[in-house]
Amino acid sequence: MKIGVLAVQGAFIEHKKIIEDLGAECAEIRQKKDLEDIDGIILPGGESTVQGKLLRQLDMFDTIRSKILEGLPVLATCAGLILLAKDIDSGEKSHLGTLPVTVRRNAYGRQLGSFKATGDVGKIADFPEVFIRAPYITETSEDVSVLATVDSKIVGVRYKNQIGLAFHPEMTQDYRIHEEFLRLIS
Ligand code: GLN
Repeated sequence: MKIGVLAVQGAFIEHKKIIEDLGAECAEIRQKKDLEDIDGIILPGGESTVQGKLLRQLDMFDTIRSKILEGLPVLATCAGLILLAKDIDSGEKSHLGTLPVTVRRNAYGRQLGSFKATGDVGKIADFPEVFIRAPYITETSEDVSVLATVDSKIVGVRYKNQIGLAFHPEMTQDYRIHEEFLRLIS
């Protein structure tokens, strides 16, 4: 099994280490041809505006989008979740738009931009959640499952082959979310 991690900007190294620690192959996706033979993809945190621009500039945008729509499993964290979201509540232009949710960027404001919480993520109990200038989800379509909430705000969802998280599971020593993602694929 080979997982691709989008490596154009942001926190991709941490995801790669976890995937490799779990015994799967992990390729850094830097150009279109890196997308050819992957069984799953991770969209990491970082800056969604920069990532969205690079995906377009590097001509990877349409290929990633169609692969996800065709069922390629995707784990998206923070900026990655923003890339997937169908809508951004400020009205700014959305990116891949494959996940039928609305996100609010930098939703916790500047002061409270970074914090930690602990909560259940789907069937995974007491997961340590690290939020860094995080978004949250303000609306979901009916067929989206909510995996996690913090203070009654939605911070984790699953829709078909797509998992979107507002926090950073790669910044903890807890590998359960990545394990679950690999299980989903195998
Ligand atoms: N604030 C970033 C954005 O809007 C996301 C932050 C992150 O990925 N940690 O893209």
